[in-house]
Amino acid sequence: MTNHELFQRAQQLMPGGVNSPVRAFKSVGGEPFFTARADGAYLWDVEGKRYIDYVGSWGPMIVGHNHPQVREAVQRAVLDGLSFGTPCPAEVTMAETIVKLVPSVDMVRMVNSGTEATMSAIRLARGATGRSKIVKFEGCYHGHGDSFLVKAGSGALTFGVPTSPGVPKANADLTLTLPYNDLAAAQALFAEHGGDIAGLIIEPVAGNMNCIPPKEGYLQGLRELCTCHGALLIFDEVMTGFRVALGGAQALYGITPDLTTFGKVIGGGMPVGAYGGRRDLMEQIAPAGPIYQAGTLSGNPVAMAAGLAMLELVQAPGFYDTLAARTRLLTDGLQAVADGEGVPFSTNRVGGMFGLFFTHEKVNSYAQATSADTAMFNRFFHAMLEHGVYLAPSAFEAGFLSSAHGDEDLAATLDAARIAMRLAKAS
Ligand code: PMP
Repeated sequence: MTNHELFQRAQQLMPGGVNSPVRAFKSVGGEPFFTARADGAYLWDVEGKRYIDYVGSWGPMIVGHNHPQVREAVQRAVLDGLSFGTPCPAEVTMAETIVKLVPSVDMVRMVNSGTEATMSAIRLARGATGRSKIVKFEGCYHGHGDSFLVKAGSGALTFGVPTSPGVPKANADLTLTLPYNDLAAAQALFAEHGGDIAGLIIEPVAGNMNCIPPKEGYLQGLRELCTCHGALLIFDEVMTGFRVALGGAQALYGITPDLTTFGKVIGGGMPVGAYGGRRDLMEQIAPAGPIYQAGTLSGNPVAMAAGLAMLELVQAPGFYDTLAARTRLLTDGLQAVADGEGVPFSTNRVGGMFGLFFTHEKVNSYAQATSADTAMFNRFFHAMLEHGVYLAPSAFEAGFLSSAHGDEDLAATLDAARIAMRLAKAS
């Protein structure tokens, strides 16, 4: 069966032919390929074509696909059963590992996705503060919970409006939105609404409007605002946790959030999420406290085994230095290729995460990210794909490296980019 045949069938059976929208290539045009297998830095589609993969299942495959240690841990766990519905030892080890690696986390609750983690964290923020408003940032994504599918209304400091039918306006009214990397806007919002705000949730390095790092002092400024107004600071580290540094973005920038959400990366490829933070807050979660949150498959023994094996691997000395150095080689290399071709281009990178922008400007805001040339990106994307390099199929997604990406992969990527930049330029 070819990619095209599978997509034809899939479209009859699943909305848009996929189980998660961005996979459908709607933003870049064309049809997605269907992966038959993955190993190391590569995906192979059902037609046998190999791709160097810079998506890494949207982040979790930080040690590469199908890593033998992760696979063997899963195989061992499976022999003992798939799900117990009782506590299991691996959950305790997982909690100990997260608490050890992320200093702001005293206690943690495992869930099954990033969406669940963020929804639970804001329930906790609301329950603990007795307030109902939350603050989020334009261009940041926190999963598909009703409170998060909200964009800024007209005017700088207005209440949010739903971005999806099905999100009640009454719900969106409780979400205040701000521009990312603009501390003055946050100060103004808190001056007006501070007493009503339960929590502020942010991707400490934005990864859902491409990759945009925080400006110097920005996260610290938000920390101070939240402390001053009695609102909880929630770092959504679903993407950045164990990705930009072993302790996540909070370790990299030296900020202590009240709550942190995790996902993807701690599952090693299995469906896992988590939220955690200050003990006095986490002790308010059921059954220790009155704030309800539960999950039949949460802490699943097979998922815990995969995540623990992966977390073991990333603790190897120098793991993150090497990952960051390779990411730098990639982004510097792409910049040199673009400069050589006279293509307007800039990059961002933090640890093993990167962003590519078809613009001369250094991008540090949502407005700049959305004004980069997406048509050029789309041409670049397709030319790279043609030459066996898979980038995220949208100009507004971050890219990811894994420890399996070797020198020859980077060299092959830059070779493809030489051709792709030329094609991107010619409209
Ligand atoms: N938060 C962030 C920062 C994310 O990037 C994502 C997913 N891309 C989510 C939350 C939602 O996670 P999931 O898709 O596992 O529900």
